[in-house]
Amino acid sequence: MTHPAQPKASHFINGEYVEDTAGTPIPVIYAATGEQIATVYAATPAIVEQALSTAKAAQKEWAKMTGTERGRVLRHAADIMRERNHDLSVLETYDTGKPLQETLVADATSGADALEYFGGLAASLTGEHIPLGEDWVYTKREALGLCVGIGAWNYPTQIACWKGAPALACGNSMVFKPSETTPLCALKVAEILIEAGAPAGVFNVVQGMGEVGGALVTDPRVDKVSLTGSVPTGKKVYAAAAEGMKHVTMELGGKSPLIIFDDADIDNAVGGAINGNFYSSGQVCSNGTRVFVQKGIKEKFLARLAERTGNAILGDPMDEATSFGPMVTENQMNIVLGYIEKGKEEGARLICGGKRADMDGYFIEPTVFADVTDDMTIAREEIFGPVMSVLDFDTEEEVVARANDTEFGLSAGVFTKDFTRAHRVIGNLEAGSCFINSYNDAPVEAPFGGVKASGVGRENSKEAIKHFSQVKSVYVRMGDVEAAF
Ligand code: NDP
Repeated sequence: MTHPAQPKASHFINGEYVEDTAGTPIPVIYAATGEQIATVYAATPAIVEQALSTAKAAQKEWAKMTGTERGRVLRHAADIMRERNHDLSVLETYDTGKPLQETLVADATSGADALEYFGGLAASLTGEHIPLGEDWVYTKREALGLCVGIGAWNYPTQIACWKGAPALACGNSMVFKPSETTPLCALKVAEILIEAGAPAGVFNVVQGMGEVGGALVTDPRVDKVSLTGSVPTGKKVYAAAAEGMKHVTMELGGKSPLIIFDDADIDNAVGGAINGNFYSSGQVCSNGTRVFVQKGIKEKFLARLAERTGNAILGDPMDEATSFGPMVTENQMNIVLGYIEKGKEEGARLICGGKRADMDGYFIEPTVFADVTDDMTIAREEIFGPVMSVLDFDTEEEVVARANDTEFGLSAGVFTKDFTRAHRVIGNLEAGSCFINSYNDAPVEAPFGGVKASGVGRENSKEAIKHFSQVKSVYVRMGDVEAAF
């Protein structure tokens, strides 16, 4: 019997599902059991061509519609997503393994927020009038054209919406390639957009591995590439896009600092560290995985952290009581277990967790290491799993320098009751998305993105509009033209 997660076909192009079984089969594995629940096929060159030519053709008409009309489609899609939240959340859980307790509140809901927010903004995208005596200049905010979105596997619905919604609001079309690991959810986003009234071809989904992404990025018809992925992939995609002088948004990895001063409310700081390390089993780019704790409260912090981490409920992700799910794949589990072994070998003190959970599926116990030093592998490399490194510090000056001593710059957080210090520390941290007495909030109203190797451009908020549109300026002369001859 076909599993309910099996999509009607692998790709969604020109308003309908399209299949081409000549592509490489991609098995979809449910991370909680290891069972294969669906199969999709990687896009063949013919499918890539069909998606790009369709999206190119659809864009012009879409851009000619008024912002109000485009916005209405996006807002209607948001309503449909909210109505179907339960089914979409179950699918997200099958796609990623994340517990339903999370997916019910974080995935289709945040996707709907993006559709609603950018749907609301679509009609407000105007230019300026610049008076120059009798002459004047006016500006127009225009679409870029055909955009490519490429997603990571941790938030397949949200990533499709965070890229698709602002792109479409500005009058662009999109071809979106989900991660091969989680190919299911973006197809639903495409289906819902059509149902909400988007013209066929405006938002298309094709499956495949890196080579399909590469074919999309290098096509001369593509005007912009928005990638969510790792830094090494980001470097490749950025370079390929530069060849064609394409616009880019790069949402890449991190190794973000979370700094806890000794005057912080301990339970809030522990809560922030849990949210910033164990949500989605640690598979979140902005996680605060280097937790710097001032020496005075270190042991108290660790004791409370171990106690609360012990309350995590590992189990069937479809059971709403489960609060901690598996790694997305066996491969990712093995990568993370490798980092845990490195932590032990290099002398970090294991506080809790530290091994694969004794159950079916790719579960790793939430793991905390203390006495981590700046040079240890687990303090330097992005792990993308439930492994928290706790480091000690004495002074503000010292911790800021150590926090910034990384190639990454996605996020940073500080817990303290001293507000002057909180703002000063955040002001000195090299990171794009920061938190004071909180961690990992990502409302659509706030810009999201990194500095340094963590990325280029911003998603969400009004900032995203700048990255999916361009300004045309028009000089208007009212009098005669003066010329030298
Ligand atoms: P990868 O970088 O491995 O892949 C990202 C996407 O790019 C996938 O769809 C992948 O396809 C595709 N891809 C790979 N190579 C190429 C290429 N040469 N040209 C075009 N596309 C290519 O990342 P993961 O999927 O493993 O995701 C984890 C990473 O994503 C982490 O580093 C994490 O920090 C980052 N991330 C960043 C976020 C942010 O907003 N800053 C949010 C979430 C994750 P495929 O995998 O199918 O081969």
